[in-house]
Amino acid sequence: MNFLSAIIVFENLHELRRLCHWGPVVALTVIAVCSSMAILDSIIWYWPLDTTGGSINFIMLINWTVLILYNYFNAMFVGPGYIPSAWKPENQRDAMYLQFCRVCHGYKAPRSHHCRKCNRCVMKMDHHCPWINNCCGHLNHAYFTTFLFLAPLGCIHAAFIFIMTMYTQLYDRISFGWSTVKLDMSAPRRLHYPIMPFGVAAFAATLFALGLALGTTIAVGMLFFIQLKVIMRNKTSIEVWIEEKAKDRIQYYQTGEEFIFPYDLCSRWENFKQVFTWSGVPAGNGIEWPINEKCHQYTLTIEQLKQKADKRVRSVQYRVVEDYNGACCPIRMGLITFFRMPCTEEPRIKLTKGEIIFATRGTKWWMYGDKVLDEEQTKAGVRIRGWFPRRCVEKCLYDSANNTAASEEKKDK
Ligand SMILES: [Zn+2]
Ligand SMILES: [Zn+2]
Repeated sequence: MNFLSAIIVFENLHELRRLCHWGPVVALTVIAVCSSMAILDSIIWYWPLDTTGGSINFIMLINWTVLILYNYFNAMFVGPGYIPSAWKPENQRDAMYLQFCRVCHGYKAPRSHHCRKCNRCVMKMDHHCPWINNCCGHLNHAYFTTFLFLAPLGCIHAAFIFIMTMYTQLYDRISFGWSTVKLDMSAPRRLHYPIMPFGVAAFAATLFALGLALGTTIAVGMLFFIQLKVIMRNKTSIEVWIEEKAKDRIQYYQTGEEFIFPYDLCSRWENFKQVFTWSGVPAGNGIEWPINEKCHQYTLTIEQLKQKADKRVRSVQYRVVEDYNGACCPIRMGLITFFRMPCTEEPRIKLTKGEIIFATRGTKWWMYGDKVLDEEQTKAGVRIRGWFPRRCVEKCLYDSANNTAASEEKKDK
């Protein structure tokens, strides 16, 4: 029992609901197909258990599966760690350096962000991952990255088994003529004595599993290198973006400031140890962080506040000229709008003629912005933000107030 509770944290059992989502269903199906096909192919056709190599191969395949699932479920069920609701900094005065989360009724601690999917402020949020149906953040960053490391390795092993099984089983059966490819199904029975012949169904299943394994190796392997690069600098994917915007802001306003990312401890090994520890629990409490000597606890949050103020000034006002029902793939809005819809899980927003939107980013066909709401809604903390087709809106002509503010701000600095 002790052993079991060391593996599964029972307090987190309510988290089992996270499995009911397309992400975990697809991810676990891929893991199940690849590992069970690799095990079946090995023991029946390619590398039977009665040889030493076959036994080692079998143990390794089981090992990959267990390690991959262990890290996958921990990433999902341990979760990123959340900022306690209604959290305040110990020193009241520090609140001025922090953003306030209206949903959690508390301040956002340094490095935390509010996740709309989890509906909580997440410690050291990296991103919300649909594949684990949870956020990747402070507590599960190491599990998540270890999963990204192990999954391609397991898939490469499985792909090797698939290719070798098909090669050895089909090699003697195929003979090429001038215009025909003949498949002789009697050959494998003469060479090996498997329990089952390697039939068309087994061939199709192996080929399918090979496709899954190779696809996973490439896709997940790329994600692993991205995560590793970020962890070596003790950053998160969101902070890479914040740093980028800081440089852009400083250049735009020519303020002459120098932005130093405060959490980079200037040693890859030190940065690595912040996330990966032997106990599996990362360093720190998720609220206070070790920092570069030239910075202080709020260097990053102050920069975020500056960017937030700047975004208001630099966002552009649009008026809705055509209703939009908020559909994910609106065929009615024209073919190009349909095909060029943004590939994100971010929401679409309903538009009604006459409404005003503050757009902050966009593509040629779609825009992302905040609906301007009436006073009551603003006070209540309502925020309607998301994507909409560009053809439904028109730039406000009386935008000059906004532009003046922008140029004055530039002069001031
Ligand atoms: Zn929040
Ligand atoms: Zn989330």
